[in-house]
Amino acid sequence: MPTIFTKIVKGEIPCYKIAEDDRFLAFLDINPLAKGHTLVIPKKETDYIFDLEDEVLADLNIFAKKVARAIEKTVTCKRIGIAVIGLEVPHAHVHLVPINNIGDLSFANPKLSLSEQELASIAEAIRSNL
Ligand code: AMP
Repeated sequence: MPTIFTKIVKGEIPCYKIAEDDRFLAFLDINPLAKGHTLVIPKKETDYIFDLEDEVLADLNIFAKKVARAIEKTVTCKRIGIAVIGLEVPHAHVHLVPINNIGDLSFANPKLSLSEQELASIAEAIRSNL
């Protein structure tokens, strides 16, 4: 059974896309901790991030760096926090979250409720800063 992220990769379900190349995809988290909260995934489905081949893991982070730079330019924050959880979706991904304080990266925090229009406009703004 393909993961929800594989369905996004295949275009079977929509996402607020930020960037992609042949191996990686970045899109907004639909239940964000902060405006600009983005997920970066390898297109090839692997559950656990530390099961990725070394080169894929390294390149995932390099791809995430470009995306983080664009988020920084878009959202006012001290820096972009990076986290790996993976307890909900069994498809390796990193969370890029704009933060100002250590607590901003807590996944126990309430999620923002953003409209489709707000998410689309944030994604467009980040894309324009890539
Ligand atoms: P975790 O696997 O614990 O790292 O959490 C998975 C993350 O994926 C959560 O932050 C969800 O809000 C996010 N998520 C789940 N489904 C989607 C989706 N269809 N589009 C964007 N983000 C999603």
